[in-house]
Amino acid sequence: MDYSQIQEILEGKCTDKEVNIRGWVWRARSSKKICFIIIRDSTGRIQVTFEKEINPELFELAKSVTIESSIEIKGVVREDKRSPGGYEIHGNDLKLISLAQVFPITKDQSVTFLMDKRHLWVRSRNIAAILKIRAEVYKAFRDWFDNNNYIEVHGPMFTGSAVEGGSTLFDLKYFDKKAYLTQSSQFYLEAMIFTFEKVWTVAPSFRAEKSRTTRHLTEFWMLEAEKAYSDLEDIMKVEEELVGYVCKRVAERKEELKDLNVKPNTIAKIVPPFERISYDKAIEILQGDGVKAEWGEDLGTEEERILTLKYDKPIFVYDYPKKAKAFYHYPDPQNPEKVKCADLLAPGGYGEIIGGGQRIDDEEILLQRIEEEQLPGDYEWYIDLRRYGSVPHSGFGLGVERVIRWLLKLDNIRDTIPFPRTINRIYP
Ligand code: ATP
Ligand code: MN
Repeated sequence: MDYSQIQEILEGKCTDKEVNIRGWVWRARSSKKICFIIIRDSTGRIQVTFEKEINPELFELAKSVTIESSIEIKGVVREDKRSPGGYEIHGNDLKLISLAQVFPITKDQSVTFLMDKRHLWVRSRNIAAILKIRAEVYKAFRDWFDNNNYIEVHGPMFTGSAVEGGSTLFDLKYFDKKAYLTQSSQFYLEAMIFTFEKVWTVAPSFRAEKSRTTRHLTEFWMLEAEKAYSDLEDIMKVEEELVGYVCKRVAERKEELKDLNVKPNTIAKIVPPFERISYDKAIEILQGDGVKAEWGEDLGTEEERILTLKYDKPIFVYDYPKKAKAFYHYPDPQNPEKVKCADLLAPGGYGEIIGGGQRIDDEEILLQRIEEEQLPGDYEWYIDLRRYGSVPHSGFGLGVERVIRWLLKLDNIRDTIPFPRTINRIYP
């Protein structure tokens, strides 16, 4: 049988025609004479009516369906200004595929309850809209990198060494060895620039984040890129172009944005260039505001919040103190206490969405930094990359969920991913 999708009907493509639809019962109510079922499929929702006078048996069957039952209906599409969406279906047939038990999700439930029922909650209009935007963000990434001649590559998820420092490593038994879940594919991307010059990936990143926050997951997706022959300024340009493009694409998803109460224009106006302020300047601004920000420390959630509330576009903070950042960052030739890196901070209090910078391309300097930091694991292969045709290069990592949270103004990062993982959540 041929099934129509609800969206086609709402676009007026099936008016006055008989259609078959399959989906789930979103709402149902009935009076003595007529039963209304709102059916949803992956593309939308539409009301179907069953009248007792026309077919009493069918009317009884329609009355018996419960919320989230799976059904198939046949009926004639009529334009109807009163019904939501402007169209209605006059039902001629109904097939019950599976009668749902009493659906546990109703209004006003606690966040914990909803998270426990996440496998059912993902059917909600809100989550569906967020996840459609999420899919669009991924499409935009791919299009941008394709258009700019980057090659997509994939690093391993099992690794033998830390990228971002030991404290958030998940370790595991790998046969008779110790291994870690990857925190970042950066090192593998660095290896691949010697083959392809410009590479990118989207991959999971695992971090044992031990504190409860609204911007950290223990499993999140990171978009990473690495570019040969580039310095910090060069990679910042790549980042802003990419983010600007993602914003443009998301702003075009008017329907989902409407469901989420986000004005497309607030996203469409996020166009590069983004302001650049030095770390020193950022500390000065914060101290001027009476914030106890100490030179030498990385900016934390609170500092980033206060700083970015002053802006309505993302800002780059560049040239951080060496001791605040990971060991692989390129030392500033003018000041050995600083490194050539930049974080991109989202405005409105959201904070860091990208960490990036120039990488150390010199063997001696890299050896010295690894020694200073006393990192666990074997970095021999990574050092090798500096021994065989090393070139200046830069790259970055963008937190996909952070970007979605910021663009959609969500309170908590967990709503940006179907099945979030945090320190106290590994179910469902
Ligand atoms: P933060 O200081 O916010 O913890 P980070 O300095 O640890 O971030 P990086 O190691 O630079 O972050 O990782 C690159 C990007 O990955 C970050 O800019 C951020 O967007 C994202 N990210 C990092 N940790 C997490 C996490 N636990 N959950 C979600 N996204 C994250
Ligand atoms: Mn972190």
